[in-house]
Amino acid sequence: MGMLDPLKGFGVTLSTMFKKVATEEYPEVKKVTAPRYHGRHQLNRHPDGLEKCVGCELCAWACPADAIFVEGGDNTDEERYSPGERYGKDYQINYLRCIGCGLCIEACPTRSLTMTNEFELADDDRRRLIYTKEQLLAPLLPGMEAPPHPMRLGENEQDYYVHGPELARRAGVPEGRIVETGTEEAGR
Ligand code: SF4
Ligand code: SF4
Repeated sequence: MGMLDPLKGFGVTLSTMFKKVATEEYPEVKKVTAPRYHGRHQLNRHPDGLEKCVGCELCAWACPADAIFVEGGDNTDEERYSPGERYGKDYQINYLRCIGCGLCIEACPTRSLTMTNEFELADDDRRRLIYTKEQLLAPLLPGMEAPPHPMRLGENEQDYYVHGPELARRAGVPEGRIVETGTEEAGR
């Protein structure tokens, strides 16, 4: 070791002190994700509050990590959760398995399932990382009514899925919230 080596070492330290800090200040400063970031999933609703999920299980079959569990149930006139015959009676996503690939949301035929920008999914209890249907369901927005209740926007599911945007406009849903199937959705 030469006499000047320690000085060279301090020189590196000093020069680094004046460089731009690259450290992320998380969690004090949260990073803004890209709009289409694949974060926590959401089960969307129609403008009257009925659920879009029809319990078809296509999302579960598409998942390469076997992270989704779906159990379908039958709607009745007395107890209706979605337009049409079936609804998602039980729905779970295991975030210990999910790799955020988004194949499930591509497979969903009703655009019930989308992904939000929420990325804080760490926990110290494995059981809390299996999200239930209640945790995944989109919140009720103004004008929505918690199911079960009758179809408010049409006579049948065709009215919801084919004429959804038009019905949503008639129901007074703000324009920015209307997409193909007629309600607000998280980023996809
Ligand atoms: S994002 Fe990918 S891994 Fe996660 S639940 Fe969907 S299909 Fe499965
Ligand atoms: S989220 Fe979509 S694909 Fe999955 S069961 Fe519901 S309707 Fe089917």
